Amino acid sequence: APLPADKPQHPYARAGTVHQWLPFTPNRDFQRQPRVVVQASGMHFTTSNGRSVLDGVSSLWCVNAGHRCAPINAAIRDQLEMLDYSTAFSMTNDRAVQAAGMIAALAPDDLNKVLFCNSGSEAADTSLKLALAYHRARGEGHRCVFIGRERGYHGVNFGGMSVGGIPGNRKAYGAAMLPRVDHMRFIHDPAHAFIQGELPQWREDPLLDLEQRILPLHDPSNVAAIIVEPVAGSAGWYVPPQGYLQRLREICDKHGILLIFDEVITGFGRLGTAFAAQYFGVTPDMLNFAKGVTNGTIPMGGVVCSDRIYDTLMQVDQPAHAIEFFHGYTYSGHPVASAAAVATLQHYVEADLFARAARMAPVLGDAMHSQLRNLPHVTGIRTLGMAGAVELQGIAGSPGKRAYEIFLRCYENGVLVRNAGDVLVFAPAFIAEETHIAQMVDTLGEAIRALA
Ligand code: PLP
Repeated sequence: APLPADKPQHPYARAGTVHQWLPFTPNRDFQRQPRVVVQASGMHFTTSNGRSVLDGVSSLWCVNAGHRCAPINAAIRDQLEMLDYSTAFSMTNDRAVQAAGMIAALAPDDLNKVLFCNSGSEAADTSLKLALAYHRARGEGHRCVFIGRERGYHGVNFGGMSVGGIPGNRKAYGAAMLPRVDHMRFIHDPAHAFIQGELPQWREDPLLDLEQRILPLHDPSNVAAIIVEPVAGSAGWYVPPQGYLQRLREICDKHGILLIFDEVITGFGRLGTAFAAQYFGVTPDMLNFAKGVTNGTIPMGGVVCSDRIYDTLMQVDQPAHAIEFFHGYTYSGHPVASAAAVATLQHYVEADLFARAARMAPVLGDAMHSQLRNLPHVTGIRTLGMAGAVELQGIAGSPGKRAYEIFLRCYENGVLVRNAGDVLVFAPAFIAEETHIAQMVDTLGEAIRALA
């Protein structure tokens, strides 16, 4: 039965207050009119007051196969009946082994060893620590500079926050930043504000600054790793120019620097390939994943690293009982999360969902470009793979307000869109039909016009 979620006395609140403090949310405004969902199926949520909302963002880029995917849910139920949890240290479970094998099989080239954790943030910090440990094991323990990118997002833990480059995420925590971190320039050129399914070709080389200023400043011999999102997701789906990742790979190779791809968003089909690494034809030394690995059902993240990194850490001159990498989580490779991952990856392959993402990507791109390009305040649209972003001119003095209000209006009108600054992002599940995409884009267009 519909629950009165929008009323102050609704069942999740006492004295008109929801007791949950929501992440990355304007909580004061949320309390005014809480948005609570109670059910989902396929492309849709049902809210606590019985309304249907089309999930235009795969619930934060997670639910690539759509909500309540039957084989995944069945696998989770079965696993709970079989093995609920087992310690992750010095022993493992069959599902974790299976999941790691499947992830390694999907990953490119010699990315074959999987370290599990529980989120994208933990994956970021795991990959940074692994980079330090790798260099130390090779006798280059002095390599401890990390380079990220302006407006990059690698989660909220101290390492990922430090290499991340979204100013708001860093502002309150200056004192806690990792000390030796630098940032490359962002990958946005206003001359290429409208991008439809193709990488832009820049006139200038965005990596010159890395080569000519950042690396000499720290000396490349001190740099442990460079971490980037192949496509900058959280900032608002910013696409790298042609050849960018290839050149980054070459620069890293030239100086013995590890290259980390944060594929928490781009992983598991968003660009129509298993990983962005395959889409761009560039293999990193480590690849971070989370979100879509379990279709969002159970938290899981991880780092897939190269055989070279693994072998280097195993070649320690230590007795057999010595631990090679002092890192890990109680829930690394949790059996239920692993069962969810196995079923999810199996389903992605069996339903050929990455190919479907590739097929539907131009439908999303065409709809967004044809219907939204000429609307008021639209300064750019970027579509690549099964995701697209609309950039708006913000309200002077109130950054983010315009997009936030558009997000609210879309939700009221039955479509979930993600606002990031003054960018609005769609990233639907790969099962999206043309009608879903049409509804998403129509609803967003109406909101942009109405709030102009
Ligand atoms: N890295 C990237 C590229 C992300 O997009 C995200 C989340 O959106 C994260 C890391 C952090 O993941 P989590 O929220 O699971 O910690």
